[in-house]
Amino acid sequence: MRRAMAEAEVGDDVFGDDPTVNALQERIAGLLGFESALFVSSGTQSNLSALLTHCGRGDEYIAGQMAHMYRWEGGGAAVLGGIQPQPLPHRADGTLDPLDIAAAVKPDDPHFARTRLLCLENTIGGRAVSTDYLKTATRIARDHGLATHLDGARLFNAAVAAGGDPYEQARLIAGHFDSVSVCFSKGLGAPVGSALLGSREFVAEARRWRKVLGGGMRQAGVLAAAALHALDHHVTRLADDHEHAALFAEGLKDVEGLTMEPSGTNMVFARSAPGLATDEVRDRLARRGLLCAGYPGQLRFVFHLDVTRADTERAVRIVRETLAETATD
Ligand SMILES: *Cc1c(COP(=O)(O)O)cnc(C)c1O
Repeated sequence: MRRAMAEAEVGDDVFGDDPTVNALQERIAGLLGFESALFVSSGTQSNLSALLTHCGRGDEYIAGQMAHMYRWEGGGAAVLGGIQPQPLPHRADGTLDPLDIAAAVKPDDPHFARTRLLCLENTIGGRAVSTDYLKTATRIARDHGLATHLDGARLFNAAVAAGGDPYEQARLIAGHFDSVSVCFSKGLGAPVGSALLGSREFVAEARRWRKVLGGGMRQAGVLAAAALHALDHHVTRLADDHEHAALFAEGLKDVEGLTMEPSGTNMVFARSAPGLATDEVRDRLARRGLLCAGYPGQLRFVFHLDVTRADTERAVRIVRETLAETATD
């Protein structure tokens, strides 16, 4: 990837003439079945550009309570767009109840914000959602006159989990939506970068918003080259991450103090027994070289291309040793 970056042909993408950025945009648009794509600096910038393109001041979007686009993006749509979120509770599998979606759409009445957009996420909390759900939820949105957007930061994890050709699966998932955001960073291993996909008209408008957001990048081909490398070499291998995550969860299923909740992709959640302070456990794990995220009552372990099978086995040992030590303290 570093070599591909070093050797990338570049131009000025603010003027649309960086050949590597253009190649990436064409590649991902073709791959996922959209007319057009826009290379952006991050998933957050991608989702925010999408919100600003779909919605205007006084409009609202529907998203899950734990959706990245609602909870983890600094309220950007409200801060910069005058757009309000309408968060909905998740079911146990991370999906939204279609009845809740329908009920959340406001009548056309000056008392209410205008409901414009449904935003779904896949994978959500590491879980790949079913095709049936995507079909039902997006159909309900359309029946109510809403546009649909997929936060597919981890779309390729969902595609690999579906089995079969991951590129084909990614295209099938993306095909349910008017716009899609996908990350080349994180699991795909590029240092930065996401793509926002949609119709030609949608992407032209999103390009304006990207500029407003400070996301116009110039010789960005060095970054697009990393993303192209990731698309070519790091998609199929996501299956290794999923396997490592499953191995890790399996290796710890009988450990006292933690209940392992594998997601089916590259994340494992571990719910802690009452009285076990997850922040203390997380700090102890970190001192032994195992980094994870800690939330109240829960730890999150994420597997990616820099974690080998041997690392996974070592991680199991580290968790066992750390919990034994915490219990006897
Ligand atoms: C990480 C992530 C984002 C944001 O991506 P950044 O590049 O960190 O801004 C958006 N959505 C989901 C589901 C994510 O996991």
